[in-house]
Amino acid sequence: MVTRASQTRTPAKPRVQLPQATTVGQLAELLGQSPISLIKHLMKAGVMATVNQVVDYDTARRLAQEFGFTVVVPKQPEKSAVAAATARRAAVAVAEEPAAALKPRPPVVTIMGHVDHGKTSLLDAIRRSKITATEAGEITQHIGAYQVNVDNHPITFIDTPGHEAFTAMRARGAQITDVAILVVAADDGVMPQTVEALDHIKAAQVPLIVAMNKIDKPGADLDRIKRQLGELGLVLEEWGGEVLSVPVSAKTQQGIPQLLESILLVAELGDLKANPDRLAQGVVLEASLDKSRGPVGTVLIQAGTLRVGDPIVAGEASGKVKAMFNDLGKPMRRASPSSPVLVMGLNGLPQAGDLFASATSDKVARTLAEGRAQKRAQAQAAGAVTLDRLAAQIRSGEVKELNLILKTDVQGSIEPIRNSLVRLEAEDVKLRLLHAASGTVTESDVMLAVASKAIVVGFNTRPEPGARRLAEAEGVDIRLYDVIYHLVEDVEKAMKGLVEPVTAEVVEGHAQVRAVFDSSRLGRVAGCYVTDGKVIRGARVRVVRRGQVVGDSNVVSLRHVKEDVREIGTGAECGVGVEGYNDFQVGDVIEVYRRQRAPQA
Ligand code: GDP
Repeated sequence: MVTRASQTRTPAKPRVQLPQATTVGQLAELLGQSPISLIKHLMKAGVMATVNQVVDYDTARRLAQEFGFTVVVPKQPEKSAVAAATARRAAVAVAEEPAAALKPRPPVVTIMGHVDHGKTSLLDAIRRSKITATEAGEITQHIGAYQVNVDNHPITFIDTPGHEAFTAMRARGAQITDVAILVVAADDGVMPQTVEALDHIKAAQVPLIVAMNKIDKPGADLDRIKRQLGELGLVLEEWGGEVLSVPVSAKTQQGIPQLLESILLVAELGDLKANPDRLAQGVVLEASLDKSRGPVGTVLIQAGTLRVGDPIVAGEASGKVKAMFNDLGKPMRRASPSSPVLVMGLNGLPQAGDLFASATSDKVARTLAEGRAQKRAQAQAAGAVTLDRLAAQIRSGEVKELNLILKTDVQGSIEPIRNSLVRLEAEDVKLRLLHAASGTVTESDVMLAVASKAIVVGFNTRPEPGARRLAEAEGVDIRLYDVIYHLVEDVEKAMKGLVEPVTAEVVEGHAQVRAVFDSSRLGRVAGCYVTDGKVIRGARVRVVRRGQVVGDSNVVSLRHVKEDVREIGTGAECGVGVEGYNDFQVGDVIEVYRRQRAPQA
């Protein structure tokens, strides 16, 4: 009552909650003002803005206060979400262990980000910041990971930066990263691969820290990074979110200690543990054939302790640990959880991402290795994720989530497709758009699809040759569309568990346009070289320019040295006329394809 009385005397200021980044127009709406009055206020403060201009949180807050609002900060899920993510993953690794056997283990960190933003430099800088001059001389080789010690708290860094390697590991079932560092160069800001890396990190549900690198450079602009990340839905701690960000310079080493502290902080929230007193278990990070030492592999120990003399199995190779070395080339007698070690003594070469384990006897190790080879063959046969198969699994209630990766011709196609897809969300089936970007379908997209059991859908785009091969090998479904409606319709059917495999596309071949001729009969004809497969008269083709589809029609004329031919194979030259298409350019690729009913799941 007292409160009410006092409220009547001094009316409370209206309260408003602001997004991290907003346009002037949206802000005007939130504050119930006209955009013009906001623009005038901004002009007074020396900022020339338009209605569609994005303003950052601080500016928006100032404006709101000027208009008499109290700005409220939403209650944060605090660290809980990060902690939960880390703990969830940690729990997977230790599920079968009795709680009393678990001991804290160091975090394992992977660095990701756009090319040239300083991932490698940062890895080097961190390593240099923590080793003594005498040790520096001892570094003989890069073994795929290294460990630094921060006030008696070790941190393991995976030495292959980039989300491609990270996701390739995941695709093989190895989730090794506890904390991801997203590097963004402060002079460049958020770039396409920053967004891609972020999507890969999110898909893996790994907690992340943003390292704003190159702050020594004159053009460094930290606010821009924060704003851009805000626009991507990543809210940094200082703006009320839960993601830590640290300004650093790999060049001057400024900020490196803070970055290391942040890693330890995030790791602590995850309560990372493993049982050191059991047979060793881990993942192969890399392996190679050494002329004098035979097959050598770097293994990240995830649980247990590995000792010299232990019988081991790595992928489909087995053996006995003859010797082990750390990242400084120092011989080791034992390796505990989260340590990377170079292991000698395998009888074959495992692959990165293969599971590693020590065994009670040589015989057990050998049998395990043989069993794995069989299992792999079975998994390969059963592993394919196709839209039809998912539909069947949704129908039977086995799967409750449809993961998609969307690639489009241009950025502008993403929003309309995203909006149509979002509307499809059903009560019992979730739709997760793991990554949406413009451009061709890349190997990295396919890897993400494998790792997250996702389908790749392309709109007016196509897979790169490497991506197509990988998709075939891994059994990933890449569905290509040139009409948004068809794309959405297929996804909707899958979500309802109804998809009858519409059609699958079979690519017959590719020809490269090397010259363009005028033809009185056909308009223009492309002089081509068949790079693979074959070109068939009457077949469906699409004309692809720098990864984008610029035409889609049929081959109406096919000639080889002035002769009309029905089809023509790899390595031959030919003249191709495409119905209704006259716009060839040298360098275009003509992709010949046909549609066929896909096999049932
Ligand atoms: P990556 O492709 O992300 O691994 O990037 P690199 O580590 O190869 O770095 C790309 C370029 O940026 C190199 O020329 C580095 O010397 C430079 N670079 C990296 N970090 C910094 C930094 O903090 N400051 C400055 N001035 N240059 C940097």
